Amino acid sequence: MTAQTRQTDAPAPAETAILVEDLHKSFGTLEVLKGVSLSARKGDVVAIIGGSGSGKSTLLRCINFLETPTSGRIVVAGEEIAMRADGSPANRRQIERIRTRLGMVFQAFNLWTHRTLLENVIEVPVYVLKTPRAEAISRARVLLDRVGLADKADTFPAFLSGGQQQRAAIARALAVDPSVMLFDEPTSALDPELVGEVLTVIRDLAAEGRTMLLVTHEMKFAREVANHVVYLFEGQIEEQGPPDQLFGAPKSARLKQFLQTVG
Ligand code: ADP
Ligand code: MG
Repeated sequence: MTAQTRQTDAPAPAETAILVEDLHKSFGTLEVLKGVSLSARKGDVVAIIGGSGSGKSTLLRCINFLETPTSGRIVVAGEEIAMRADGSPANRRQIERIRTRLGMVFQAFNLWTHRTLLENVIEVPVYVLKTPRAEAISRARVLLDRVGLADKADTFPAFLSGGQQQRAAIARALAVDPSVMLFDEPTSALDPELVGEVLTVIRDLAAEGRTMLLVTHEMKFAREVANHVVYLFEGQIEEQGPPDQLFGAPKSARLKQFLQTVG
């Protein structure tokens, strides 16, 4: 190894589902991510917690390039995203391909309102991945069944509850069989009585070994499903570790205080 070789240039191990290294993101003069590094192996459930404005959404959005990072390194499913020195993607087609490896579920349900649930779920497989329509439809029916919406395939989103819409959004994200699911506060826009049905779907995915990064304010749920927890404070990882440690024996005074305010 030469003196110039930084350890950070080592290739990611094949089982790495997500690797984020020294990620920085600024909006103008506001530095929102100040050097975040985390990784997830296949099958990991990584919960990301932190106060409002700490950079959780920005972190997820940088991973699929909905936001352009300012600098850093991102590896998805073993493939490093080629970035220019300013963080911008060097290869648009690579970004498009990598996005099909990531299933993103947002706080707001983000379904296409003028399409039925079935049409929502087959959209990306058919039009982006060029999956034959009949095959995409049969897969979509299986996915809708898995999230408990088999009988709603031909319904438009407006006729569904928030919980049903969010479950449909999860089915849609699963339709590309993503390497990693990215959840950004998937239950925070829901009425309290609808939270449980969405958490149940996510819990089942975790139990099946689906790799995920999960931003959540449901601390009990994070403790239950995650095998690694990351606490973000003002754009930096203040503490991370196994859930029993983070929730049961937090070291950071900020984390202790955060847990008191949320739980
Ligand atoms: P969190 O999800 O943890 O609540 P965000 O990642 O949404 O935090 O936001 C972190 C900070 O970045 C906030 O101060 C927010 O106002 C700012 N921010 C997020 N997106 C943008 C944007 N597109 N332009 C300018 N500032 C933004
Ligand atoms: Mg957010």
